[in-house]
Amino acid sequence: MPPGSPAPPGPDSKRQRVLPVPKTAAIMRTFDPDSSIVSDIIPSPNHGDRNKGRQPDMIVLHYTGMPDVEGALARLCSAGTEVSAHYVVLEDGRIVQCVQEAKRAWHAGMSSWAGEDDINSCSIGIEIVNRGHDWGYPEFPLRQIAAVIALCRGIMLRRKVPAHRVLGHSDVAPARKKDPGEKFPWHSLANSGVGHWVTPAPVVRGESLMLGTISDEVLSLQQALARYGYGVPLTGKYDAATMEVVTAFQRHFRPARLDGVADHSTLSTLQALLASLPPEGTAVAAK
Ligand SMILES: [Zn+2]
Repeated sequence: MPPGSPAPPGPDSKRQRVLPVPKTAAIMRTFDPDSSIVSDIIPSPNHGDRNKGRQPDMIVLHYTGMPDVEGALARLCSAGTEVSAHYVVLEDGRIVQCVQEAKRAWHAGMSSWAGEDDINSCSIGIEIVNRGHDWGYPEFPLRQIAAVIALCRGIMLRRKVPAHRVLGHSDVAPARKKDPGEKFPWHSLANSGVGHWVTPAPVVRGESLMLGTISDEVLSLQQALARYGYGVPLTGKYDAATMEVVTAFQRHFRPARLDGVADHSTLSTLQALLASLPPEGTAVAAK
């Protein structure tokens, strides 16, 4: 090819879209990325200090749940919206950092895990660009998942985050949130050491616990969910809150059926997860 000729079109030659920089971010001082695989920095003013100097030992994964990436970045990086995340992973795999890891980003909202309820102070928040359940909920592209894995692995190594503390927003806020949702390939992440996973027990016919049941079995279920980390009332009554937690559990660990019914498959998957936690990993949430 003579010098100066334009490169032939190839799969990777598509010009990348330039990221839109929200107005407030454009005048904010930038910072050095915490991860070497960050491709852009768009600073968000929406952050504070971690309470009592709590160091992050948890990663919370989200989807943006908005029709386009421009709107999502504008929301996460504009003053006044009161939301942000440390990182945003685009569909093409590019990673944008918005808040320094040392700071407390505002991504989890009202939430709890393993007895802690200031999840923003103890976690790194990663927003994954996906329109979400309200806008058609597309599959997550492989390139994007590969980028999420690489980013998480780096954070886990640097911050000593154990695999079982890589969670979804729906795990820590089951009554309010569905993200990153049942299409999120947690099993692929686990194959790369990111997140805790066991092969879900198959869905079979049989007895199950469901809304309205009051029994010792319901209490045992609630205790098991709490031991894993979920914020669930220990009442022995299968109430709406319990059903929401069971649905969140299914969304993450047994996505074949999301019905909030604790069937045999749900219960044995939960037991297998508890049995495969590292000894020090058991959440002490039961009160
Ligand atoms: Zn979220």
